[in-house]
Amino acid sequence: MTALDWLLLVGTLVSVAMLIAAHFQHREIVDAQARIMRAQEVRLVEGVAARTAAEQERDAASAAHAEVLAANQQLTEDLATARAVTATEVLTPEQRATLLANACAHCGGVHARACPRVKRLQFGADGRQVIEVEFWRDGRWDETRVKWIEDLSLDAPASEAAAE
Ligand SMILES: [Zn+2]
Repeated sequence: MTALDWLLLVGTLVSVAMLIAAHFQHREIVDAQARIMRAQEVRLVEGVAARTAAEQERDAASAAHAEVLAANQQLTEDLATARAVTATEVLTPEQRATLLANACAHCGGVHARACPRVKRLQFGADGRQVIEVEFWRDGRWDETRVKWIEDLSLDAPASEAAAE
């Protein structure tokens, strides 16, 4: 082989080597891109899952909120019943049960506004839970503002009289 042939052969080999190197480099880039796409897919799936969890949390919160609203509504209705009943002084057994269920925790009676037996209420850190109650001494508070459930007549006094 002449020197030129050698030169051509070496040149060809170098070209082939460069092509092979370029091929591997290209494959590396393609693999890297595939890894990035897989990572993006994982992040997308995680994002969807996180969003679904957040939506479920929000739904649970709004369900809890609706429950509290319903409870408040019920309480308002019970109090309205209590007020109407204390005005008439004649109870159906259902009204009496409602009154007993909503009787004041401090005096045991029924009244429209704040309990007249209570001198001072101390609330906890949440501002709602009562942690201490100070009462007026007996005989020193306005009992006329309280209706005693046992003093209210039932619609059916006969059965009540029989029970007593
Ligand atoms: Zn009371």
